[in-house]
Amino acid sequence: MGRYTGPACRICRREGQKLFLKGARCYMSKCAIEKGLPAPGQHGSRRGRKMSAFGEQLRQKQCLRRQYGMQELQFKRFFQEAHRRTGVTGETLLQLLETRLDNLVYRLGFAASRRAARQFTLHGHIAVNGKTATIPSMLLKEGDVIEVRDRPRGRDLAARALEAATTQQTPEWLTLDKKAFRAELISIPTREQIAPVVDEQAIVELYSR
Ligand code: SF4
Repeated sequence: MGRYTGPACRICRREGQKLFLKGARCYMSKCAIEKGLPAPGQHGSRRGRKMSAFGEQLRQKQCLRRQYGMQELQFKRFFQEAHRRTGVTGETLLQLLETRLDNLVYRLGFAASRRAARQFTLHGHIAVNGKTATIPSMLLKEGDVIEVRDRPRGRDLAARALEAATTQQTPEWLTLDKKAFRAELISIPTREQIAPVVDEQAIVELYSR
């Protein structure tokens, strides 16, 4: 199955919450969720349907997976990796997702959305520890340095994204030097710092079925 390339707002409408998939628009009144648009489809406006425990868990998983723009199989691999590592599986899963390169590029404001950050990375505009990094799912660790490579196109795009991202604050677990287009992952974020939009325990339960 290919990557979802349809309207981003449709995903938020389906999940019934803001997933911040579109950059500046997400902070405006034009946002579909702010406007109160229902879930897409013929029966989208039917509310109050009772969902089974499985249904609830599935929705939580879909919501988190779609927030990070991942495909099913890749998301499952991330879960398996989280399960393999020591620590609380749910929190480890969130940490793995947050330390993906494309997510960090987005969090730093070098791109307006995770989708744009993925594209930006694939186009070779990012370097990690001085080496060009083109794999969006690359996992970074404490002390890694992310830079927008010194090329006019990439720096120009990043400068514009940074300028537009004034409402977005750099997370406390990252340091950013805007002038140098350089950042460092100073620590792996905790669950509280990530503030997930889902109940990750429900996802652990879903995969443990
Ligand atoms: Fe989601 Fe952003 Fe669209 Fe709002 S504007 S529905 S937050 S993608």
